[in-house]
Amino acid sequence: MRLAVIDGRAVVVRGDRAADVGWASRGRLSTDPMALLEQWQRVRDWGGELSDEAYDISVDPEALQAPVPRPRQVFAIALNYPPHAAEAGYTPPAEPLVFTKFPACLTGPHTTVALPPGKVDWEVELVAVIGRETYRASEDHAWESVAGLTVGQDLSERVSQLQGKPAQFSLGKSFPGFGPTGPVLVTPDEFEDPGDLEITGLLNGRVVQHDRTKSMIFPVPELIARLSAVLPLFPGDLIFTGTPAGVGNRMDPPRYLTPDDELLSRIEGIGEIRQHFTAAHP
Ligand code: ZN
Repeated sequence: MRLAVIDGRAVVVRGDRAADVGWASRGRLSTDPMALLEQWQRVRDWGGELSDEAYDISVDPEALQAPVPRPRQVFAIALNYPPHAAEAGYTPPAEPLVFTKFPACLTGPHTTVALPPGKVDWEVELVAVIGRETYRASEDHAWESVAGLTVGQDLSERVSQLQGKPAQFSLGKSFPGFGPTGPVLVTPDEFEDPGDLEITGLLNGRVVQHDRTKSMIFPVPELIARLSAVLPLFPGDLIFTGTPAGVGNRMDPPRYLTPDDELLSRIEGIGEIRQHFTAAHP
């Protein structure tokens, strides 16, 4: 099942058509995607039996909003692909390095981001969305806690991210618009192997990041086991799972985002999100 949000209402997407969850369920299910994630198994069972006639909305990709607009918790993982750890000058970490993107930075898939002062960089990432309350999950059962996968950009202002000793990541990754997600949330059963997806970042049409998610040092099930060993995860929580090699601040010379750049972030089986940029607001 593919879940998206249009006009603040949850829809189930099939091809270029969508079914409004509230209308198609005759009001038995909520229109709010956060409420649906609280009863995700019921939504999936219902969505599997939807008739063709229910898909009566023609989807305008530009109208899609964040599939998970109000997560309680947003986890993000640093240095989770070996080539990216190497380009950043680190050996692969023995424990996941965890920070947050504060939820105020989250947006939908197609946006224009005002560049704050500093050096703004790109990080295409797979985002796992939690679909049930999860505490002390075992790795073997962790996929059962995943409502779906979506595409995210962990936009990062490197000056504020790296200033101070030790550096603290979260603020520099939480400027307005720094957490675009979407275009849809795709349930794990839609993939042949949800742990092995092609992930690509393109800047002005040129591939700058490219890998497969199976390269992760800590794959999705291990991240869920390790995070939930410490604290409960809630329906709708997001995990930004880290970025492959090819970020701008490790290029020679470094390359940061400028007004008029176009950034595409794409994951096999999910789709792509697109950001444009403008100069900072005065
Ligand atoms: Zn990241």
